[in-house]
Amino acid sequence: MKRAIVYHEDFNKYDLGTDHPLIGDKPKNTMSFLKEKSVLSEFQVFTPKKATEADLLKVHDPSYVEHVKKLSLTGGWLSEDTPAPKGIFEVASLATGGSMCAGEKLFEGYEVAVNPLGGFHHASKGHSSGFCFFNDIAVTIEYLREKQKLKRFMIIDLDVHHGNGTQDIYIDDKTVLNLSFHQDGRTLYPGTGRVETIGREDAAGYTVNLPFPPGTGGASYVKAFEEIVPPITRQFKPDIILYQSGVDTHHADPLADMNLTYQTYYHLAKSVAGLSQETCRKLLVLLGGGYNSVACIKSYYNIFCGLLGNNDFLEEEEIPDTDQEEVYNTVQKLKQNLSDYWNL
Ligand SMILES: [Zn+2]
Repeated sequence: MKRAIVYHEDFNKYDLGTDHPLIGDKPKNTMSFLKEKSVLSEFQVFTPKKATEADLLKVHDPSYVEHVKKLSLTGGWLSEDTPAPKGIFEVASLATGGSMCAGEKLFEGYEVAVNPLGGFHHASKGHSSGFCFFNDIAVTIEYLREKQKLKRFMIIDLDVHHGNGTQDIYIDDKTVLNLSFHQDGRTLYPGTGRVETIGREDAAGYTVNLPFPPGTGGASYVKAFEEIVPPITRQFKPDIILYQSGVDTHHADPLADMNLTYQTYYHLAKSVAGLSQETCRKLLVLLGGGYNSVACIKSYYNIFCGLLGNNDFLEEEEIPDTDQEEVYNTVQKLKQNLSDYWNL
């Protein structure tokens, strides 16, 4: 199987400052660790180009793109939690171009393609926060919709934060099945992603949200994943799967309160890769959030092991779930809410 990864030295300029949780050298450190572990050789490396303004405008409002451009000239703040350093317009455009380039590779004989600087799911059409500038997931979907005439896109967003920007963009669109697992919005930014939010009008059933209580561990999480994600994927029959594989669900992550362990990422990535093989054989992996600089690199590594089906993954002691019953009840609620649309 042919696999691709995109990388550019300038990815490391996506740096929101030394006192900010998003540290710029993560792409470089990820690549070094993959190389050290002899996993990188399984992927052909491509250098992406910046997304053009025309690409960004397929999703974002012209006034928003202008706003980011202006901030980028002087430096400033996009929102309370998101500083906009000088030059961020170019860097965020490059991150977006990275996802587009990786997406394109799936139509050139590659079955898995990774962007280590992708998954900016908090960016909406006309505003953003949560360290995101442009929604590379949506820009890539619109690019592939036009260029490759795709009709069914599936997003599997496992970042600990709810993908509110992506949801805003696609809540009325039944061609995009947007599935997000996240820590409950009552306890974490951005506060959205309730189990009752399932899409609007004829797109009902095409937005799927599963919120988890703080303290959820790998066992409950994987069980919930297996009950929801494979049946929906098989029934939806996607043309492509976009996997936002954020690892800020790890127990050592400083921004959130879930308790996933290294091995969880291996199992999840292996399942997603298997679903892609069963359905469309086109898997775009956007590495997403992760703010403990050591744990996130190891977690990303395990995602690569899962994609490769390589048994040499890292393990650590499991952390017991604090509230298995609440997870179980929420999964039942979700199944109930989706029962008119999916056979779960
Ligand atoms: Zn996140």
